[in-house]
Amino acid sequence: MKLIQIITLLFLCTSCAIEDDYVPLNIEPIFVDNPETTIKIDIIYVLPSGNNNKSMYHLNENDFVDNLNGGFFHRYDIGLELGQIRTITNDELYDLRDNRDAETSTFLKETQDSYKKDRVNVYIIKRANTIALAGIGNDKRALITDEFLYETTAPHEIGHALGLFHTAEEGNIMSQINPHKRTFFSDTQVLKMKNHIHKTKEQ
Ligand SMILES: [Zn+2]
Repeated sequence: MKLIQIITLLFLCTSCAIEDDYVPLNIEPIFVDNPETTIKIDIIYVLPSGNNNKSMYHLNENDFVDNLNGGFFHRYDIGLELGQIRTITNDELYDLRDNRDAETSTFLKETQDSYKKDRVNVYIIKRANTIALAGIGNDKRALITDEFLYETTAPHEIGHALGLFHTAEEGNIMSQINPHKRTFFSDTQVLKMKNHIHKTKEQ
């Protein structure tokens, strides 16, 4: 990898999960009735040319958002509300193996016209179509590979989408080490996400 690419990756704060980790999460769900800060979350399935069947992803969107809220966001008075469920046809994005080392720039470029700036946009692709990548998050957008939707990759990338950077603190959702130990956001991170949400909705 060239230095400039490394710098770009660090700057964009991506390449997040370094290791595959399928240890089941052990987080007791917490739900609150009316979270103080809410934001819509759109689910966007990425499809290849010639296939408009999103059922290949086998995802229950309501259950996915419930899992995020119960496990990671409601306890901080942040609520994700399921917005639109959409599809985009995009071969560059669908098969990210063709864009090795340029995954982040490809992701941002190929989603430029489809993401909505007033919400979190979660793009889903097949894990099998990437190399050593669980997800990407930046600027209201998160890319999550299908095998990591119920792992800490999902709140981690949404954290990036809401303005957070990496931290070295073990157990923090935004750390890059031991993904199965990631359980919490810090007070500072929560405040930053809430401010980001408020600004996002004002735009
Ligand atoms: Zn990351």
